[in-house]
Amino acid sequence: MLQAVKGHVKYWGFLLLKLAGAALGSAVALQFLNLFWEPRTRWFHINPYQFGFDLPYTTLAGVWFLFSYGLFYLAIWDQRYRCRTCLRQLVMPVETGSWSYILQLGRPRLEYICPYGHGKLNVEELQISGTVQPEWTEHGDIWSELFATSEMGPDKDSDQTR
Ligand SMILES: [Zn+2]
Repeated sequence: MLQAVKGHVKYWGFLLLKLAGAALGSAVALQFLNLFWEPRTRWFHINPYQFGFDLPYTTLAGVWFLFSYGLFYLAIWDQRYRCRTCLRQLVMPVETGSWSYILQLGRPRLEYICPYGHGKLNVEELQISGTVQPEWTEHGDIWSELFATSEMGPDKDSDQTR
């Protein structure tokens, strides 16, 4: 239970950290843009005397908005392809399923896996009924299970491994 709470805090805390980084990057970019126009503007503020009056400033403010949007988008997009346990990037996408053998193999989807075997992520190939959330399947700690068996010997492992 405590482990699960810790995992959630770690996962979502990482996202918050990335969003804070994106906000900082966006603020710095805006401040850099404001350097070149009078009068001096406070942090996190668009210059109200130039925006809508000066064409280059307004255009660059539009570009800045797209840049900031991209930063936040990247932070959230990256989060989806991270391991829920160790935050490493998921690797080795494998296509599974088939439309012509849907009863045997299921619907086509991309399967990603954590390099340390914490779990796998199934992303639906076709999002028919709205956006389908990717499905995360957690695996047990495969290494601890392996070591537990080798320490206890093969005869005891049936009642000790979960
Ligand atoms: Zn992992």
